[in-house]
Amino acid sequence: MNNGFFSRFMQGRYGSDQLNIFLAFFLIGLGVVSLFIRLDILRAVQLLIFGLFLFRFLSRNAYRRRLENQRFIKISAPVTRFFASKIRQYRDKGNRYFKCPKCSAKLRAPKNKGNLVITCPVCKHKFYKRT
Ligand SMILES: [Zn+2]
Repeated sequence: MNNGFFSRFMQGRYGSDQLNIFLAFFLIGLGVVSLFIRLDILRAVQLLIFGLFLFRFLSRNAYRRRLENQRFIKISAPVTRFFASKIRQYRDKGNRYFKCPKCSAKLRAPKNKGNLVITCPVCKHKFYKRT
């Protein structure tokens, strides 16, 4: 739909970014919760977030929206990193992930090998680790 109504409508409008995708998923999550719990406040929050989503999606001020998105990415980075490391650990069951106690570089060692002497490849610090 290159020249369709939608692309003409969206001309010069901001559209989607990470923050809006997050808002959309949050909205879906709230929708699922509201299937089980009926609360007026929940409905109000849903409306508010939907309004915010639409406002950002249809906005013609891309500069402001990009700034908001950058702020969102910055704030959510620790959470994203936390889940990314959990997913990595889950996929890589043969290894244990941990941090060097001295320089907190991310390291990994094979699991179930007992007490290992680990030499940190970054700062050369030696320490024991139960794997
Ligand atoms: Zn180190």
